[in-house]
Order: sequence, then C-alpha cells, then structure tokens
Amino acid sequence: MTAILETRALVSGYGKKRAVHGVDLALNTGEILLVLGHNGAGKTTLMSTIFGLIRPMEGQVLLEGRDISGRTPAANVADGIAYVPQGHGIFKTLTVRDNLELGAFSETDAARTRERLEQVFSLFPILKERAGQVAGTFSGGQQQMLAIGMALMHGPRVLILDEPSIGLAPNLVERVMEAIKTINRDLGASILMVEQNVKLSLPVADRAMVIKTGAVVYEGAPEPLNDHVRLMTLF
Ligand code: ATP
Repeated sequence: MTAILETRALVSGYGKKRAVHGVDLALNTGEILLVLGHNGAGKTTLMSTIFGLIRPMEGQVLLEGRDISGRTPAANVADGIAYVPQGHGIFKTLTVRDNLELGAFSETDAARTRERLEQVFSLFPILKERAGQVAGTFSGGQQQMLAIGMALMHGPRVLILDEPSIGLAPNLVERVMEAIKTINRDLGASILMVEQNVKLSLPVADRAMVIKTGAVVYEGAPEPLNDHVRLMTLF
C-alpha cells in the first residue's frame, strides 16, 4: 500500500500549548481511515494542521511523499485536498447552487464543473430538488450533505471530514455514511474521517486509529473496536 497522505512525528497546538504530540498517520491510496477519540483528544487540531489551518510545531505533512508542511489551505485545495470542517462551513445566506459553484472556485473548466455538479446531485438528490433554496433554511443533515457536496466540486483526491455525523439523527448519519462510502468507491477519493459515532462509522472504515490526549493509542483493523470494553479502555 502506498500512502497518499502522511504525517510524521507531527506536533501541533495553540501558542505554546501542545495538543498533538508526535502523530504518525498514513492514509493509504483509496482507503477510508477513521480517526476516533474523546472530546479534546486532538482530532480537530490534527486535521487542521494537515490541511494548513495551523502550522505544525514539529514534524511533517506529506502528500504523495512530498513535504507540504505549513502550506496554505488554498494551495492544498488546488493540489486535490478537500476539508469539511466540523459545523459544515457552508454559506448560509446563499442558495445551494451558489454554495456548490463556490466550491468549484479553483476550477477553470466549466464542463468539468457541470459534470461534478451532476455527480453531487446524483449523490444527494435533495440538493438538486432544492438547488434554489437558501442553505441556512436547511436541516443539519442537509447542510452536512451540502458541505460534503461543496468539497467534491473541485474533484479532490483526498477528502478530510471532521465529524460529519455531529448533531444528526441516526437515520441521517447512516445516509451520510453511505454517501461517504460511495464517494470513496465511485469517485476514487481517499478519505480521512474524524468521528465520535463509533457504531455507525466503523462499518464504512477500512482502517481505524484512536487518539488519546494527542497521541495514537490504536491503529489497525476497525473490527476490534466493535468490542465495547476494548474501546472504552482505549478511550
Ligand atoms: P472535539 O471532538 O471536541 O472536537 P478534538 O479531539 O477534536 O475534540 P481538539 O479540538 O483538537 O480535540 O482539542 C485538543 C486540545 O486543544 C484540547 O485540550 C482543546 O481544549 C485545545 N484547543 C482546541 N482549540 C483550541 C484553541 N483554539 N485554542 C487553545 N486551545 C485549543
């Protein structure tokens, strides 16, 4: 397996405070890697540092073996990395269609933008039905679908999702997880996903990591984490 995205001994945090303590992570090409951990474990800090929102204090981030540590989010987007932050990051006063078109801001080929719009609409038909609706009037689940749709508009090779299930009813979480599987299988994106909903996210993962106080305490097959007692020991 070759890693499309890696961190090596990554240290990161806020001011002098460290929240990520030397994390080695490898997202293999074509897989879904699930990152689990308690509130405050450092998952968001890790994802933000990979995407370039926070500069690493030490260590490296690599894309296809190239050092991209500390590069801007815009440069990362242009190079095929998409990030869906916790809380969606959509423009609530704009329509669904406007949001999706903004998601394709770096794309200069109009035909490709149309093709991606159709891909997003077939993945989430509700977005097509309500393309003219203002996004802020959407439910939490629909906003999450829109946020993922926006991220797909520039055809990412790597998709980073920070807690896509947060605040959603269980049936919607299942729907979002199915869509994530489809994005991975049919659109070929490698996916790095942070989650707290262990039960509904484990089945879509190829591999899993558990992070505790900024350090990796488990890395391997997802199945052993179905064991509640084992999981609680790790958390
Ligand atoms: P959650 O699931 O609640 O988002 P998390 O695993 O993503 O948790 P982080 O948000 O990365 O955890 O937080 C890791 C540590 O960094 C925590 O101790 C948190 O209090 C701290 N932290 C997070 N954001 C900031 C910030 N902007 N300034 C200072 N400290 C922060």
